[in-house]
Amino acid sequence: MNEYDSLAMKSLLKREGYSSARSLEEADIVIFETCSVRQKAEDKVFGVLGRLAKKKRRQDKEYPILVVAGCMAERMKKDLIKRYPEVDLVIGPGHIHEIGDKIKDIVEKKRGQISVSGFKGTIDDIYNEGLYENFSGVKAYVTVVRGCTNYCSYCIVPYVRGPERSRKIEEVLTEVNELAKKGVKEITLLGQNINIYGRDLKGGKIDFLSLLKEVAKIPLIKRVRFLTTHPKDTDIELVELMKTQKKLMPYLHMPFQSGSDKILEKMKRGYTRDEFLEKIKEFRKVYPELSFSTDVIVGYPGETEEDFSLTKEVLEKVRFDGAYLFKYSDRSGTKAEDEMEKVPQTVIKRRHKELLELQNKITFESNKNFVGSTVKILIEGTNKTDKSSLSGRTEHNKVAAIQKQDNVNIGDIVSAEVVRASPHGLYCY
Ligand code: SAH
Ligand code: SF4
Repeated sequence: MNEYDSLAMKSLLKREGYSSARSLEEADIVIFETCSVRQKAEDKVFGVLGRLAKKKRRQDKEYPILVVAGCMAERMKKDLIKRYPEVDLVIGPGHIHEIGDKIKDIVEKKRGQISVSGFKGTIDDIYNEGLYENFSGVKAYVTVVRGCTNYCSYCIVPYVRGPERSRKIEEVLTEVNELAKKGVKEITLLGQNINIYGRDLKGGKIDFLSLLKEVAKIPLIKRVRFLTTHPKDTDIELVELMKTQKKLMPYLHMPFQSGSDKILEKMKRGYTRDEFLEKIKEFRKVYPELSFSTDVIVGYPGETEEDFSLTKEVLEKVRFDGAYLFKYSDRSGTKAEDEMEKVPQTVIKRRHKELLELQNKITFESNKNFVGSTVKILIEGTNKTDKSSLSGRTEHNKVAAIQKQDNVNIGDIVSAEVVRASPHGLYCY
């Protein structure tokens, strides 16, 4: 989502006559498109921002214009300005479309430091005709639902990205069509809880399944993926559609977060461990080739060794093709922040390491299971680690490499036999 918002800001500034700088040092405007989901992401921004602010202060200069955009801007608002007097603009995700005007105001010195935040009455559709002018690539992300209204107890997203707002289907389709004309073959539709797409739109006729069917109809688009499905809202109808509509890739990212019912309840996730496991079983029965990935939070307040082993057990039972394992991070303003029984960092680290080792083993085994089978790879470019080969993704979203061939180009979908697997991907040579 941040990539999408960055692209939008870039094209909006292009309209004002700006172009991309070759390096940070040469830039007249530096924009931080930030994430607040975990403290670690914010710390990275503080590091670079602090360095640039200090430099600007020492040189007593007006430039570069420093802009903080995205979730940190929404979370900290004017506090950021107070903390860094060198920051010129703090602009929340609901106000991206105003970036050009605000920069103009700063350059023309109409106003001092500016902070804009909030979601009331904002325009969500930041798509504009020039958005993809300089876009190149065979894959693209398109946001279809902004914000989230789930309020999982640990999560900052509803506060910094606002409530769920679906984009109109016509706008999504226009955008995907434009990308298709630019040579994009694979689209990933984005939403924090994408299953609920359409439920806030007037008329109530459009839902997530109809959106998927329409996107899959676009001839030049060969593959459609989507992120993120929520276990409480993902039903067999989606899996049945994935099975019959071959442009929908056989890959479902469905975060379960914890294997303990006690923790799931505290997290306010809206499902139990058994309900989650049942869904996976049901989905696999209908569509055995479907692969799964997930997100897990380790060390949520009150997580005991027993709760932790229940999470481990889910990883072992389901054998996800991949999993993103996160250490719990306290987020100010969330319900979880008020929980008393915080798990010590040393314990979180140990549990995280244990889960990582387990999942790495499972992922490697899942990769090895592909050896001997034929996979279809969408070629994305030269393999970074071996320049004599090309790499891309299989339908199951595995990274795969093939030997360079004269008749194979970027954007082609090629079939190849897997001869070898590594912990990170597949080799067809
Ligand atoms: N909307 C998606 C994901 C949003 S954020 C969903 O509901 O699944 C991506 C992931 O970050 C989450 O799935 C969760 O695993 C993790 N995450 C969110 N808040 C966190 C926090 N406070 N600490 C650690 N991980 C967190
Ligand atoms: Fe956060 Fe939960 Fe919404 Fe995902 S569904 S963005 S975890 S509140």
